[in-house]
Amino acid sequence: MSRPEAYAGLVADLLKWLRQNDTPAGRWYWDEGAPATPAGPGPAASAPVAPSSAPAVAPAAETPPEKEDPFAAELRDFVARAMDSIAAHAADDGLLAGLPAAEPAPDPAEALASLRTEVLSCTACGLHDGRHNVVFGAGSPRADLVIVGEAPGRDEDLQGEPFVGRSGQLLTKILAAIGLAREDVFICNILKCRPPRNRDPLPPEVLACEPHLTRQLSIIRPRVICCLGRVAAQTLLGTSVSLGRLRGGVNFYRDIPVVVTYHPAYLLRNPAAKRDTWNDVRKLKALLDALAAAPTGGAPDHA
Ligand code: SF4
Repeated sequence: MSRPEAYAGLVADLLKWLRQNDTPAGRWYWDEGAPATPAGPGPAASAPVAPSSAPAVAPAAETPPEKEDPFAAELRDFVARAMDSIAAHAADDGLLAGLPAAEPAPDPAEALASLRTEVLSCTACGLHDGRHNVVFGAGSPRADLVIVGEAPGRDEDLQGEPFVGRSGQLLTKILAAIGLAREDVFICNILKCRPPRNRDPLPPEVLACEPHLTRQLSIIRPRVICCLGRVAAQTLLGTSVSLGRLRGGVNFYRDIPVVVTYHPAYLLRNPAAKRDTWNDVRKLKALLDALAAAPTGGAPDHA
């Protein structure tokens, strides 16, 4: 037998042993890959064999009582505070500058398509000069949730679509985790054209581009906006409050509640923040559900 064949045999035996001894340590191998030096008695030690006296069929384990989600109380508290805040804002016309009604928008899909045609030829700020494509946004014209990022990146500029590439894939997974597909929501950015070298948007660019976003929102009329990242949140909300303080509460853009979380690109660089993001999006989903179940359906009244 040649040496490679011998090694292949050894590897096959090792894998067989691991499958037969499916302990947590064994699973760790499957999940993480074998370490260079296994800790403790490793596969090279004599492999334990199940005693022949072991019962052929293990007794059925009792189903453990279902534990309450430890995050459930925080979710309930968040939704209660958010609904109070939304009601308080709705009652105070002086605080609100509602979105202009879409004029006329009997069919949001048609209205959005017409706005898209208009925005694709926009030259209202200097960013039109270096763009490959205007990234208008994509998704459902009747979405309950609009997701707003900062500005297109390189891939988005080249493809003309929002949130593509690795960040986009992660966003798709995050949405799926709360039961939403990209087609269920509308995804866009504050700026529709890519700033050079992905720099932060400049105030004149935001000013020039904001009417496009406002008109998108007035057509779609979402129940909630979710801002991704510090720049999107601070720019949309017109504040310098830190991302840490904006997260976890409900903010308002005009009269639409805004939930803030991390940008997927940040999560790719800082995977430890995924846990916080998971909590943020669970709150977002709970708020969407509560607004959908509310007597008014949570829809802002722009009449
Ligand atoms: S960034 Fe906005 S305002 Fe500037 S050219 Fe593009 S679409 Fe127009």
